[in-house]
Amino acid sequence: MKSQLEQLKQAAIDALKTVTDNESLERLRVEILGRKGKMAELMKQMATLADEERKLVGAAANEVKGAIEAAFAEKAEMAEGAERAERLSREWIDVTEPAIGVRSGIGNLHPVTQVREDLEDLFASMGFIVADGPELESEYFNFTALNIPPTHPARDMQDTFYIEGHPDMVMRTHTSPVQIRSMKKYGVPLRAIVPGRCFRNEATDVRHEHTFHQLEGVVIDKGITLSHMKGVLETVAKHLYGADTQIRLRPKFYPFVEPGVNGEVTCFLCKGVGCRLCKKSGWLEVFGAGMIHPNVLREGGVDPDVYSGFAFGFGLTRLVMLKYGIDDIRHLEGGDLRFLKQF
Ligand SMILES: [Zn+2]
Repeated sequence: MKSQLEQLKQAAIDALKTVTDNESLERLRVEILGRKGKMAELMKQMATLADEERKLVGAAANEVKGAIEAAFAEKAEMAEGAERAERLSREWIDVTEPAIGVRSGIGNLHPVTQVREDLEDLFASMGFIVADGPELESEYFNFTALNIPPTHPARDMQDTFYIEGHPDMVMRTHTSPVQIRSMKKYGVPLRAIVPGRCFRNEATDVRHEHTFHQLEGVVIDKGITLSHMKGVLETVAKHLYGADTQIRLRPKFYPFVEPGVNGEVTCFLCKGVGCRLCKKSGWLEVFGAGMIHPNVLREGGVDPDVYSGFAFGFGLTRLVMLKYGIDDIRHLEGGDLRFLKQF
C-alpha cells in the first residue's frame, strides 16, 4: 500500500514535468487529486486495512497527498507566470507612439518666431549682427546702466519679477540691457539687433501679458545722426507693411535716449485714411527709438565725445498681433494648438 502511494507520488511529479499549459494541468489534477481520482481510489482501499496498519498508511497517504498538492501548486504558479510573460510579450505597447486618431504631422513655427526670423534676415542684409542676452538679468544692466537709477520713476513703469533671495536680479523688462552687453562684448563700431523675451509684472488682459517679445536695435559709429535712424526705421516699416508706408517720429521720453522718439507708421489696413485698427488716426505706434544717451554709451565703455549712436525697440509681439489681426495677446503664450496651427 505504501509503495503504491510512493508510486503515485512519483507518477504525479513525472507527469507534471510534461505539462505546459493550464488546461492540461487541470486535467492532470482531476485525474490524480479529483474525487474519483487515483488518490481517492487508494484512500478507498485503506478501509479494508486493519486498524493499526490503517493508521500508519493513513499518515503516509496524507503526506503524499500534501506533497502532490504542493507540486501542483508550484506548477500552476509557473504556468501562470509563463502565460503572463507570453501575454506581455504579445501585448507590448510603445508608449511613444502617437494616440490613435491623432496625426501629429509636421509642426509650424510660432507666429512670433516667423516674424522674428523675417526681421533677422532683413537686418542681417543691412549688416547687423543678431545678439543675445540673459532673460534673468542683473538690476544693473536692466536699469542702472540704462540711465535708470534706483530712485527713477521709470522703474515704476516697468514693474517686473524679482528673484527671492537675490534682490539684485530681475527678469529683464526689455531687451535694452543687451545694448550695454553688446558694447562691452563687441566694442564699436557696432550694428546689432537683439530679439528676445521680456517680462513685466502685469495684470493680464487682452493687451497686457507677463511675457512678451521685443526686438532691440543699436547702431554706434562716428557721426551717426537721427537721419540714419530714420532711414533704418523707414526701411523696416516698408519691409513690414509695403513700399508706400510712411513713418513719423514724435518726441517721447525714454531714460536711455536723448532725444527720444515715438515711431508711428501709416496704418497698413486703411493706408492712412483712418479705421478701427488705428483708432481713426491713420497711424500705428510700432516702435520707440532715439539717440543713445551719453551716460549709456559711457556705461558700455564708449566715449560719447567720439561716438554717437541710435537705438530702437519694436514690440515684436505687437507687430505679430497687427500683422495677423490677433485681438488677444494672451493667445501668443497660451500654447493652444488650435490657435497656433493657424499660422
Ligand atoms: Zn487704419
